[in-house]
Amino acid sequence: MFDNLSEKLDKALHVLKGHGQITEINVAETIKEVRRALLDADVNFKIAKEFTNRVKEKALGENVLTTLQPGQLMVKIVKDQLTQLMGGDAEGINLSGNPSVILMSGLQGSGKTTFSGKLASFLKNKKTKKPLLVACDVYRPAAVDQLHVVGEQVGVEVYSDKGNTDPVAIAKAGIAHAKQNGNNVVIIDTAGRLAVDEQMMKEIAEIHKAITPEETLFVVDAMTGQDAVNTAKAFNDVLNFDGVILTKLDGDTRGGAAISIKSVVDKPIKFIGTGEKMDAIDVFYPARMADRILGMGDVVSLVERAQEQYDEEEARKLQKKIAKNQFGFDDFLSQIQQIKKMGSMKDLLEMIPGAGKALKGIDIDDDAFKHVEAIIHSMTPDERTTPTVLNASRKKRIAKGSGRTVQEVNQLLKQFDQMSKMMKMMQGGGGRQMMQMMGK
Ligand code: GDP
Repeated sequence: MFDNLSEKLDKALHVLKGHGQITEINVAETIKEVRRALLDADVNFKIAKEFTNRVKEKALGENVLTTLQPGQLMVKIVKDQLTQLMGGDAEGINLSGNPSVILMSGLQGSGKTTFSGKLASFLKNKKTKKPLLVACDVYRPAAVDQLHVVGEQVGVEVYSDKGNTDPVAIAKAGIAHAKQNGNNVVIIDTAGRLAVDEQMMKEIAEIHKAITPEETLFVVDAMTGQDAVNTAKAFNDVLNFDGVILTKLDGDTRGGAAISIKSVVDKPIKFIGTGEKMDAIDVFYPARMADRILGMGDVVSLVERAQEQYDEEEARKLQKKIAKNQFGFDDFLSQIQQIKKMGSMKDLLEMIPGAGKALKGIDIDDDAFKHVEAIIHSMTPDERTTPTVLNASRKKRIAKGSGRTVQEVNQLLKQFDQMSKMMKMMQGGGGRQMMQMMGK
């Protein structure tokens, strides 16, 4: 995410972060470089100029040159301004209605249908919400089918009426259906076109007027940069929408749309899409995004993701097993499943401060655990609970069954053994012992 922009900003701020003498000239040069980085990221010229003017003003106001750590202060000023530019505080969606109606708008291919499914799943996981998806694209039967597929994936009902050519009527019938069935959220997926055209605008405006949704969301592909901003403006002029959904951020190296959209339409970005899978959705937090852009990671989101997957009951069981020396490969496997549920590996690693830069250009295989899983799956239940029974011939059989080598099987066993020892030590309050082991 935003690799190019991060790298350029890092370079721009590099001089100030270093220990060289800081003068008025290199502060001015830094500000110029920051502006160049923003322009390269496809940020609108006017916005980039205003941004750097504000940074300059702040830098002068806070007497950057006379402070002890001018580099740090500059980074902070840039971070604060970036946060402001992207919206300041995070803004949620309005779910006050019963049902709350959420209308999706945007061009074809922007990710509306995918996001509708992600949002339905996100809300369903909140337990108090029972969403209904409504398919209002009357031009592309495939789009209706796609919503059904998505609905099935996330376990949310989909209302559609394939023969009907009136999207307003379908939307209304969908809402009536929700009322009857106790759905307290209705997410309406609408038809998009490849480009802004009058008829599409007229149609979405009609639906909007007829159903007066609690929340109208505009979905846009972040990778389209300035075009995304222009499309947002066109939709906002007609719909006066409530919030923006930026999709495909996982493929966006430049970040121009994320940075500019708020100040052009004056509407908050509410969610982001970071992948094709149904769990690749995140609430948009401007400050956390600014941290990510500046290569500072996003530890808060990482911890939150971990907490979402944290199952207290399971954790307690696991603790007991470790204490009794019963931690086996089945437990190991379920730990892997939990990590996988937290999201894509690259996405997770990028949340660790400094890791984004270190990982640049490195292709992280999302199936990093595939081989480990294959090896464990080739073990018998006995072998999984008591790995000590694994002799040479058993290892050979497992290697063959999993399509891996005996060395790989040995390596996994060694890692497993070390991990078990370490867990046992942590359990026994042996933090000190562990430090000793690590040579501290
Ligand atoms: P719609 O025409 O607006 O409904 O768009 P779709 O939901 O059909 O999405 C278009 C394409 O973008 C599909 O191939 C999706 O899988 C893909 N897509 C949607 N959201 C994301 C995302 O956040 N990241 C990535 N990488 N792909 C996405």
